[in-house]
Amino acid sequence: MKILFVSTEVHPFIKTGGLADVAYALPKALRAAGVDVRVILPKYGDISENFTSKMNHIASYGVKVGWRNQYCGLEYLNYEDVPVYFIDNEYYFKRPGCYGFYDDGERFAYFCRSVMESVCYMDDFYPDIIHCNDWHTGMIPLYLKDVYFEKPEFAGTKSVFTIHNLQYQGKFSPAIIEDLLGLNPGYYTEDKIKYNDCVSFMKAGIVYADKVTTVSETYAKEIQTQYFGEGLDGLLTANSHKLVGILNGIDYDTHSPKLDKNLAMNFTSRSIGRKAVNKADLQKAVGLPVNPDVPVVGMITRLVRQKGIDLVTCVMEEILKLDLQFVILGTGDTDYQDFFEYYAYSYPGKIAACMKFDNSLASKIYAGSDLFLMPSLFEPCGLSQIISMSYGTLPLVRETGGLKDTVIPYNEYTGEGNGFSFANYNAHEMLNVLQYALVQFENKEVWTKLVKSAMNTRYGRERQAKAYMAVYNELIG
Ligand code: ADP
Repeated sequence: MKILFVSTEVHPFIKTGGLADVAYALPKALRAAGVDVRVILPKYGDISENFTSKMNHIASYGVKVGWRNQYCGLEYLNYEDVPVYFIDNEYYFKRPGCYGFYDDGERFAYFCRSVMESVCYMDDFYPDIIHCNDWHTGMIPLYLKDVYFEKPEFAGTKSVFTIHNLQYQGKFSPAIIEDLLGLNPGYYTEDKIKYNDCVSFMKAGIVYADKVTTVSETYAKEIQTQYFGEGLDGLLTANSHKLVGILNGIDYDTHSPKLDKNLAMNFTSRSIGRKAVNKADLQKAVGLPVNPDVPVVGMITRLVRQKGIDLVTCVMEEILKLDLQFVILGTGDTDYQDFFEYYAYSYPGKIAACMKFDNSLASKIYAGSDLFLMPSLFEPCGLSQIISMSYGTLPLVRETGGLKDTVIPYNEYTGEGNGFSFANYNAHEMLNVLQYALVQFENKEVWTKLVKSAMNTRYGRERQAKAYMAVYNELIG
């Protein structure tokens, strides 16, 4: 089975969120299961020289972007036994960051074409499946079906399109159809790629892929409703026959309190007493008073509306009146950044606001906190709550998408659970559950049991890989 896995971020090369984690963990697990999977991504300017210096140049060729013929270099690196290809074009990708540029439509139209062209230069690799991820790759299923279908490299090739977040859709002016995508204007219809008087890459992926997956069973159902459907619920319902929810998994070697080199002291579920050392280390690192008895509530998040930040800002004063310490690591909307920095300045010793992207500090927060707050408005899967559980930090989440599928709320009558949850998008409901969790924190017996239960909860990449292999097999026939 030969799979070309296309993603615009892959850990450890480049990361803005959970997609990078999945694009690392899933191919690794597929490979371990005997699948010839290869990964391809843009060669961004932000990829560290540690990696770029080790890449091999495979080929240079021209790629059509409408009437233009753009340079493309194909670079190669074997990383932890997974073959990884990089699309090199400095005009498009040698910039700080991955997304958010005025010409993203052109950049990712180019990327989709480059991926299709690259297959001719991968020796003896004719993919059975091209597995695409999120809008940036959405034109690939269309190109495969309507443009490249006659090429011998793609005889019998099928496509899978995974929605990691339906909110980001890649919508651009219809002018790009001919000018950048090199397609005829006939594609600009409601049954093809027209959406909201724009061209939508996300819609192209959904319409043209042979199978559409998303990252949890609950989110697969949610996106077929108006509230979560981002305007595409009708399209998704119409395509429900080819839509399936497969819960993401994490790599338990990467997110391991036993192996993580960023921790002051490693630990396992049999030595959770050592978490206290990490708590003290975290408190010191972020400038909070070192105190083992006060519960630490952590957040690691993109600072965007999706993550439920509005609930936190709404009751920040009340939260800070509780006997706790609050630490937040995140980047995103400047309004939110300013908000948390203001509170960190006003309440020193109560709240630490680290407005940056920092993998090492993230590890310290996962390991050193007692509770992990993730009150998302919507959450396709969410990896952070799974990671926090593996570090014995109990997630407090809103019951939506993957959060609902992974966190079992504590039931004081049966003793079951691996975290806490609330149902409605309501700040005081969140606050109530937070207060309830703090009461449980005082009962060391209950808390220890919950921490162990969280650490023993497993949502691994092996299970996810198995589910994807079933999808691939179904398509290959
Ligand atoms: P999303 O992909 O929507 O951002 P996920 O929970 O699926 O959310 O994944 C987020 C990933 O990004 C996790 O691995 C989390 O630890 C990491 N992350 C988010 N913000 C930061 C940050 N500021 N610094 C370090 N890691 C971060």
